[in-house]
Amino acid sequence: MKPTIVIVGRPNVGKSTLFNRLTKTRDALVADFPGLTRDRHYGHGKIGTKPYLVVDTGGFEPVAKEGIFHEMAKQTLQAVDEADVIVFLVDARDGLTAQDKLIADKLRKTGRPLFLAVNKSEGMQRAVITAEFFELGLGVPLAISSAHGEGVRELVELMLEDF
Ligand code: GDP
Ligand code: MG
Repeated sequence: MKPTIVIVGRPNVGKSTLFNRLTKTRDALVADFPGLTRDRHYGHGKIGTKPYLVVDTGGFEPVAKEGIFHEMAKQTLQAVDEADVIVFLVDARDGLTAQDKLIADKLRKTGRPLFLAVNKSEGMQRAVITAEFFELGLGVPLAISSAHGEGVRELVELMLEDF
């Protein structure tokens, strides 16, 4: 079975950009996976000989104005439940936000393997931008740039190490 990587994070951190990068290696065209809920964004990717499935949870960003569903929609939680690996994406330019902390609390409770990626890090010093994210208690934050591809390969290799 292909491992499923689920991308989670608040709006605008670059989830879809990362999704596109993780899926275009094999297919230029990102198609919905037949038979699955339409508002979930599924795609296939491959690194070396390892195939994987990626879910972009951005297709179901929360509609509620407040409460925990504002931070994370129910469907996102379902996707997270089906994840083999979760990548929690945060934004180097915005820094650590209150919403990030709430999402981190939710994700920690799932007990799923979790990788913290600090996106939009191009042109910035890794050690400096990742420092504040240690506070989330999710391990070592990995600096990446989804737009430029920096650190993405390393992230995927790390995530799929046990598969
Ligand atoms: P989503 O809402 O989490 O799916 O975020 P998107 O993938 O739609 O990206 C939100 C914005 O961030 C867009 O304008 C992207 O071009 C930009 N973005 C995404 N990744 C990067 C990155 O690595 N560096 C920079 N500078 N911008 C990025
Ligand atoms: Mg999106």
